[in-house]
Amino acid sequence: MKEIKNHNLLKNQSFINNEWVNSFSNKKFPVYNPLDQSLIDQISDCGKQETKDAIHAANDAFGLWKSHTSNERSNIIKKWHDLILENKQDLASIITLEQGKTLKESLGEILYGASFVDWFAEEGKRIYGDTIPSHDSDKRIIVLKQPIGVVAAITPWNFPNAMITRKVAPALAAGCTVVIKPAEDTPLSALALAELSKEAGFPPGVFNVITTSDPDKVGKILTTSPQVKKVSFTGSSEVGKILMKQSASTVKKLSMELGGNAPFIVFDDADIDLAVEGAIISKYRNSGQTCVCANRIYIQSGIYDLFIEKFIKAVREQKTGSGFDENVSIGPLINKQALIKVKKLLKDAQNKGAKILLGGKEHKKGNNFFEPTVITNISNDMLISSEEIFGPIAPIYLFEEEEEVIEHANDTSAGLAAYFYGKDNSQIWRVAEALEYGMVGINTGFISTNLAPFGGVKESGFGREGSKYGIEEYLVLKYVCMQV
Ligand code: ADP
Repeated sequence: MKEIKNHNLLKNQSFINNEWVNSFSNKKFPVYNPLDQSLIDQISDCGKQETKDAIHAANDAFGLWKSHTSNERSNIIKKWHDLILENKQDLASIITLEQGKTLKESLGEILYGASFVDWFAEEGKRIYGDTIPSHDSDKRIIVLKQPIGVVAAITPWNFPNAMITRKVAPALAAGCTVVIKPAEDTPLSALALAELSKEAGFPPGVFNVITTSDPDKVGKILTTSPQVKKVSFTGSSEVGKILMKQSASTVKKLSMELGGNAPFIVFDDADIDLAVEGAIISKYRNSGQTCVCANRIYIQSGIYDLFIEKFIKAVREQKTGSGFDENVSIGPLINKQALIKVKKLLKDAQNKGAKILLGGKEHKKGNNFFEPTVITNISNDMLISSEEIFGPIAPIYLFEEEEEVIEHANDTSAGLAAYFYGKDNSQIWRVAEALEYGMVGINTGFISTNLAPFGGVKESGFGREGSKYGIEEYLVLKYVCMQV
């Protein structure tokens, strides 16, 4: 851990009511560096009782936190933001250590994560209600927006910092209190954020983190406790559906940011170099482990050969290795299961006729590394067409007509991000409107920003994160009718 200067950020206990706590059983679970499987630390392995304690602490703190003025809350949230930025190098190193992405990408994630904290510290001051012209001359109609209550945030390992701030910052700004359950592969980033929340001055119980190797058990408590009023989840559609079912028992408000299957379409008239650059960013960022990664790359026949030639050249230039090595752009996959999944998808595609143009096997660096791979001859019956790859494999499809590619692009249960490249204005509008996705990138492969609403349609979920819409997820409307 020589990379980390501020050792105060390295925590291995859960954070409840502003206290660092062990699990009652004193059980711990290991967190490994995906680079070489070395042990980073042993973390408190909490269960039902600790989760209930965290919920109680958050519930007890809610009354006080919501009674703060928005300015008072904003000042503490801004302090948290400043501390995140002061510690950005260390926080980035923690991400690279436990998640494997390159330090440059980790630093990008810290700045992206911090941008939500900054944004919502301000947005919290603009939670405006309404007055509505009345149906009756002696009545007045007012709409209040109030914080919903205790929020459970269940977050994934692929963005261990930003997926927390994107949920927690709007929740805190709205006046809610939070219980965070980070992914078991990457709890250290969450705990570092908790340490900084303590330093920032959040009152006890406002910010809680439960670490566990048993997400089912903890998730069950979070989704069924009557004290938790909202669950915000980012992760797989499969787990999202379980959480929705469980949350039905107490009718919780939900935000679900689930899996994607992003099409990346390049039309004949596109700027090919720009499209290649966008495809590289969109496909290989975080070693292909983001829910908005290009999952299916569709190239129109007129530029197919040229695109492939340029794309392969660009992929060859990517260097695989340790995230701490400055020249590296592709790090390891998160764990062995991720490697097994990528291999399974590729084998299935090969068995059904896919052709490997580049890569195709485990990287000689061993461990969780997989070669950046490009494949063609893809058919719809291959698992790779319908499943989220979450690895550095780029499947390239050939298409002739616009209608054909739209039909294929929409032929999936997912609907998170889509991308396309072209120059024809009327086609741009037609295609942007026809794609059944929550987000569309036009002539760009990188769309994430705190200023825009992030989220999906269909089985990619619902609810939006970031932008002016993000805070609504943590508010409830109250209609007040007053006889005058
Ligand atoms: P991924 O495939 O990206 O690992 P998951 O949906 O499995 O996505 O994990 C995302 C988050 O959901 C992680 O924090 C994980 O621990 C948590 N999780 C997984 N299964 C459950 C469950 N049954 N209940 C609650 N949380 C869960």
